[in-house]
This record gives sequence, C-alpha cells and structure tokens, in this order.
Amino acid sequence: MLSTLKQIFGFNEFRPNQKEIVEAILGKRDVFAVMPTGGGKSLCYQLPATITPGLCIVISPLISLMKDQVDGARAQGISAAYLNSTLSREEAVEIYRLLHGGQLKLLYVAPERLALPDFLTMLEGLDISFIAIDEAHCISEWGHDFRPDYLNLSVIKERFPETSIAAFTATATHRVQEDIITRLNLWQPFIIRASFDRPNLFYKIAPKLDVNTQLLKFINTRGKDPGIIYRTSRKNVEKTAEFLAEKGLKAVPYHAGLPAEVRQKHQNMFNNDEVQIVVATIAFGMGIDKSNVRFVIHGDLPKNMEGYYQETGRAGRDGDPAYCLLFYSYGDSSRIRWFIKQMDDGPERHAAEQMLKRMVDFADTAICRRRQILGYFNEKYPHENCGGCDICVDEKKTIDVTIESQMLISAVTRVKQAYNAAHCINIVRGNKTPEITLNQHDTLPTFGVGKQKYDDNFWHILINQLIHTNILHCTQGDKIVMLTEEALKVLRGEQKVEMSKRRDKATLSSTSANSGRRALPKATAEDFNADLFEELRDLRMTLARQKNVPPFVIFSDRTVHEMCRKFPVRSSQLLDIDGVGKKKLREYGKYFMDAIYDFLKRNPGAQTEL
Ligand code: ADP
Ligand code: ZN
Repeated sequence: MLSTLKQIFGFNEFRPNQKEIVEAILGKRDVFAVMPTGGGKSLCYQLPATITPGLCIVISPLISLMKDQVDGARAQGISAAYLNSTLSREEAVEIYRLLHGGQLKLLYVAPERLALPDFLTMLEGLDISFIAIDEAHCISEWGHDFRPDYLNLSVIKERFPETSIAAFTATATHRVQEDIITRLNLWQPFIIRASFDRPNLFYKIAPKLDVNTQLLKFINTRGKDPGIIYRTSRKNVEKTAEFLAEKGLKAVPYHAGLPAEVRQKHQNMFNNDEVQIVVATIAFGMGIDKSNVRFVIHGDLPKNMEGYYQETGRAGRDGDPAYCLLFYSYGDSSRIRWFIKQMDDGPERHAAEQMLKRMVDFADTAICRRRQILGYFNEKYPHENCGGCDICVDEKKTIDVTIESQMLISAVTRVKQAYNAAHCINIVRGNKTPEITLNQHDTLPTFGVGKQKYDDNFWHILINQLIHTNILHCTQGDKIVMLTEEALKVLRGEQKVEMSKRRDKATLSSTSANSGRRALPKATAEDFNADLFEELRDLRMTLARQKNVPPFVIFSDRTVHEMCRKFPVRSSQLLDIDGVGKKKLREYGKYFMDAIYDFLKRNPGAQTEL
C-alpha cells in the first residue's frame, strides 16, 4: 500500500483515515466515510482500484467534474475514463472497447446511467472490483442536495450482491448517514467519521467597514494567489468584481443571473489559473475541485454555519496553508433578520432564526473560531490554543469591558428601557443631542460617564455584543434596548464581560492578513522561495495548456512549494517530494529540474537564504 501511495500518487504518507479505508476496501468490506472537503477522498478508492484486479466504478454526480478527475488519475498513470452524455459516439465506443478488454482501472459514471437496463447488463459482464459512490449524501432527502437520480443507486446491491460499495461524503448528519446506509443496503459497513477540522485553514473575522477597500488591501498581501470572494447579492458580486478589475486585478463575477456559458467560462478561467479571483454568490461551489484556492473571503455574513464551513472548505484542499476571512457588521445580521421576518411564521422561519443566531454568535464571541466551528458539528476540539485563528494567535486576546458594560446597562435602566442603542450610547458618551436635551437625559447620573475612553465605534461594538450575548435585548424592529436577567448580574458585578481585543480598534489595519502565514506552525518552519515559485508556476501553466488540463493536475501548489524549499535537481531528489510519483517524474521531471537548475545558476545564494 505504501509503495503504491508513493510510486503512483507520489505521496509519502497517508492523510488521517485514508489507510483504514483503503484496507477495508481491499478486505472487500462495504465502507461509509464522512470526510471533510480536502480530506483526500479520491485516493481512498483510487489507490485500491490500482491494486485490485478488475475495474472500480465511480459514481459521481457532476459531469463537469468527471473530466478533471479522469485527467488527474491519468496524470498519475492510472487508466481511467468516464462515460457520460458529453462523449461522442466514437469516444464512447472506444471506452466500451477498453472496458471489455479489461484495460480500465477506473470508470466514472453519472447516477442516471444506472437506470438504463442495458448499461447494468453490460456491467454484469465485466470484472468489477468494487463500486465507489462520491457525494453519497445526494441519495438522502434529508440532506441538502438531494438528487432523485441517486435513488437509482439502490439497485446496485440487488444486481451486484457480491460487490462491495464504498460511499463517501463531506456532509452527513447522523440521520443522513443512516439514510444513506439503508438506501444503499450497505452490509455491516466500516464507518469512518473523520474530524471536520481543517488544520491548514486560518480563520479570521474582521469588522466590516468599506468592504471593497478592505478586500483590495487583503488581496494585495497575497501576491498572485488564487481566491474566492463570496458576496450575498448578485449586485454586490458585480460591483466588487468591477471594483477589483478597475484596480488591475484579474477578477471575474459568478452568479446564477449570468448566462450558463459565461458562468462556465469564468469557472474554467479560475480553474486554469487564468484569473486570480472569482467574486461569487453561493451559486459557485459544487463542481470546484481546484486544489490551490489560497483564500476564501466572505464579504457578507453567511446565513448559517453550514454554509460558512462549506464555503471556507474550498480553500487549501492541497493541504498547504490557506486563509479564511469573514467581514462582519451588525448591519449584515439585521439585514438577514429582516429577510427572515418576511417568511411565513412556522418551523422554517424558526429554524432560519436559530441558524442565524448561531452564525452571529460565532462572529461575535471571542472564543477560538476552530473550537466553535467544530462545536457546531458536535465535535470537541482537544487543544487549548489552535494556533490557526485570529483569537488564538493574539496573545492578549481579550480586554475586560465589565465596567463599560455596566455603564451601558445603567443608561438603559435610567431611561426606563424605552430608547434605542444609539441614544443610550450618546448618554454614556455625554453627547448632547436634541433628543437628549429634550428628555433632560443630560441630567442623569450616567450622562457622560464613558466620555474619556474609547470612541463611538467601540460603544457600538460593545452594545451589539451585549445584545448578541443576551445581556441586553432589542425589541420592536431592533430599536428599543431592554435588560435581561443577565444584565442585572453584570450590574451587580457577578458576571464579567470580555471583548476580543481587535474589536476595540475597528480600523482597516485589523484586516492585515500576514499573521495567517505566520500563525500556522507548518507554514513557518517551511518557507519557500517566492521567485522560484513564480517561475515554476509559469512553467506549470505552459505544460497545463499543452496538455489541456488545469495546472493543479500537473503538480499541486503544495508540491511546487516544496520544490521551492528543497531545490531538487536530480531525479532521486525530485521523487522525494510529496506529490511526485513515477509517472509525473517521467513526464514533467526534466522540465522542473531544468528550471530549478537554471534558477540556481542565476541565484546562487537562494538555497542558503531560506
Ligand atoms: P476531497 O475529495 O476529499 O475533497 P481530494 O480527493 O480532492 O479531496 O484531495 C484533496 C487534495 O489532497 C488533492 O490535491 C490530493 O492530491 C491531495 N491528497 C490526497 N491524499 C493525500 C496524501 N496522502 N498526501 C498528500 N496529499 C494528498
Ligand atoms: Zn483558535
């Protein structure tokens, strides 16, 4: 197993759970595996497919992805093909010929094909080693992308009772898991539920001010790294894409309002590294297999944690550090709340409210982001400090704002819980607005108690935090601020209030993103030569164009980064690099070694500089 892992796939070690799954498949057991995006699911079936005699059938829902997956497998020297409606008759005939000749190891098909009796009969005549099902949650009506075509898969066990099935998904609640296992008739499956932790992702939440300027500033710290920016509305997608393009960045929009050809074109350009940035609504998602997305930014608050996790999950699939940045303002949550209020009163609206609350709590509390994300999936994060989020890398991460909170609470009390947040802040800050003078609130003992310290922004952030953490309560269209039981505890000094430190200075500089690279221990120890990386990236692009495959199919960013640390100029050295297998060495090795050799001649100090 290990030698196949190295020789064919080029990897030096398994990722978590891969080995166990491969062993179960080799032992002819049914498998059900939940692994996060980027967990390396493909390898779990591709590796046993190359070892066992016979053919592995892979059911995959997206025709657009099949080509990439087959290209990827072929680049590693695995004989793979797909059958779908995009093939010409001649191409299909050629694949049938290979199938009957027993010359294929992997065959990708879409689920609807299993509804064709002829196709099933044809399969019965082949030597099938096992059947892998990708995105298995699509079979469940409880899941979020149920596809009726997936119900066809229930016939597999009837028609092929002796053949084992390995089902994979990145999202499955326990209910969906039971549903998948039942519908596929899996027999005593080997079940893996991998951790949802993505250790190479850095999470940060920053206050949202002028979001386009903030985005630009962030991207400028990232060189040519590819990234996705999510925005909620089509209008803002267009605006942000235009803004970035005006500033000279290669950015394209993607949303459901664009014609299908344009969407496909923009997706391909992004996949092939021809544009750096896609600005998109959440319509952009399924079907992105690009492994070198180096950052995912949310320009607006996502509706729920599930969405946030899935979207950020598209970053860093190759395992190298990647950055997830969310810009958050209180206005965003009010906007979503407003939309929710337009829904009919009922369980759906209630659920949407709950989900939004989870999301807002996540953005608003000074607790490790990773711990909160995993907590959402009922997983307990075992470490005190994750070293990979804005909360954990900041040493003095919180400030005590109990006294300031008491000031606000007593202002709310003094005005008899009948005024809005801005008014209470004005009292604490000692601003004589007409409304304050009119009501003689400038004579209250609380008036001006918080004058010296902190600016307006601080007080707004604080009052929002108090509202989100249920210390204060906001009614009537979020206007009137009232007290809760918790407020009394704070007032009596029985409960402390802390604020994450960056929140007290909601300045643009807080979006400076360099800390991400530093934060991840993996990334610090292994810096790479950025100039060489640029050159090898160009080389990879040229080769990718010749082969008509996306650049990451040639070598992942992670592999190229390692070349830029180790400067391999001999085959044995290149083969040592993670991601370089025999076939790729033969096919591309010379180009890369020549380029590195040439670079070292021009930059003799490069190797010792790191
Ligand atoms: P998933 O389908 O689970 O999202 P993929 O199968 O697309 O993940 O794998 C994500 C990336 O991880 C790919 O670039 C793949 O080559 C890489 N990868 C998979 N297994 C390993 C491994 N053992 N070591 C290093 N990289 C790996
Ligand atoms: Zn953390």
